[in-house]
Amino acid sequence: MGAGFTAEQEAVRDAARAFAQGELAAGAAERDAGEHIPAEIIEKVASLGFLGGVIPEEYGGAGLDYVSYALMLEELSKVDHSIACLASFPSGLCGGGIYRYGSEDLKQRYLKPFCQGEALGAAAVTEPGSGTDVAGMRTTCRRVDGGYLLQGSKMWISNLEHARWFITFARLVEGGERGGVCAFVVDRDSEGVGTAPVKDKLGFRPLSSGEVVFDDVFVPDENLVGEPEKGFAVAMAAVENGRLGVASRAVGVLAAVVDEVTEYARTRETFGNPIGTYQLVQSKVADMVVGLETARLLTYRLAELKDEGVERLRRESSLAKMHASDALMRASVDAAQIFGGYCASPEYAIGRHLRDAKIFQIVEGSNDLHKLLIAEDQLGLRSSERERKRAPAAA
Ligand SMILES: Cc1cc2nc3c(=O)[nH]c(=O)nc-3n(C[C@H](O)[C@H](O)[C@H](O)COP(=O)(O)OP(=O)(O)OC[C@H]3O[C@@H](n4cnc5c(N)ncnc54)[C@H](O)[C@@H]3O)c2cc1C
Repeated sequence: MGAGFTAEQEAVRDAARAFAQGELAAGAAERDAGEHIPAEIIEKVASLGFLGGVIPEEYGGAGLDYVSYALMLEELSKVDHSIACLASFPSGLCGGGIYRYGSEDLKQRYLKPFCQGEALGAAAVTEPGSGTDVAGMRTTCRRVDGGYLLQGSKMWISNLEHARWFITFARLVEGGERGGVCAFVVDRDSEGVGTAPVKDKLGFRPLSSGEVVFDDVFVPDENLVGEPEKGFAVAMAAVENGRLGVASRAVGVLAAVVDEVTEYARTRETFGNPIGTYQLVQSKVADMVVGLETARLLTYRLAELKDEGVERLRRESSLAKMHASDALMRASVDAAQIFGGYCASPEYAIGRHLRDAKIFQIVEGSNDLHKLLIAEDQLGLRSSERERKRAPAAA
């Protein structure tokens, strides 16, 4: 990070830290157990501008630079990852494509109310039969008078509890021919939209996630995002923008794991000594610290490059997302070992971090895919198993 953070960036980080510790910490375990984010919390998050992220003020955003945005997400995530995930949606997976490709009207009607906490959205990319391979989607749309009819379903869509609309994707079918992908914003209360949350999830529990069904749902022309049949670029813009968010959130949870392990290993005693004096414990702690610091560097570097206006950051996005979530997974497993039997107790957050860590390795591009993307970029060769007509990507 060059000479460090600017005073503005530190102010954003400090505000997020104060809010997280003062307002989020006490209820985090309860929200995880209850699989629920109360509306009052979202109102507070919105009123402090944390939903606004990097979106410009004219669209209700906070107009943050990317480094400030990454620091804000890290601080929120350190205390309650699900709130940080929600705060990342308008700038990332949910709003990123609308901001870049959507009409002025769509930005005013959907992006602005999300940033201001008035009408939240969700990103519906993954399907029951295709996640990593986004282009393999089966949801279709066909042209009708004044718009399109959508048919199909999406799976694992987060923020089902509060979303009033979905940005989603469907393949155009005309005269029996399959055409390109179209991107749409669909109002949740449109006729033919159904939702079914998955209860008792392994991780990311407060964020209600589940199925969204489109049964001949009419979407007007004005809700098309970008050009007809150019929706794949919208999906990829959203996904790539989302990766800074997911990396920052993983760094936040990892920082929490390191703090909690530090406290525990200094105070828990066996055989008359703090367990932190044993070299096998110290080795795990050292690995965690290296993981955290390197994940931070990759994440802040990605944010810096975005602030410099670099457009294509696929390699850097994959490096940050994969490394931060892998480091989090390793640290969480080691932390559970260090906590011994108490890792299983709801008295400590380690169990929750461990459950969330696994999900981090899967969402917004499975880490196996990121590994392929990094290797392909390095070698200048496409992996043989991805050498197919349509290019797989990742939600
Ligand atoms: C809690 C939660 C919240 C989520 N929220 C959202 C959301 O808000 N919106 C949304 O659209 N989606 C969401 N998802 C879905 C998530 O993005 C997908 O689960 C993810 O992209 C993986 O897709 P899949 O589950 O279909 O796995 P698959 O694509 O079936 O892949 C399964 C595994 O196969 C391997 N694999 C697959 N392809 C390759 C390849 N090319 N190279 C190497 N290995 C490969 C990987 O190990 C991968 O993990 C969420 C998921 C969860 C669990």
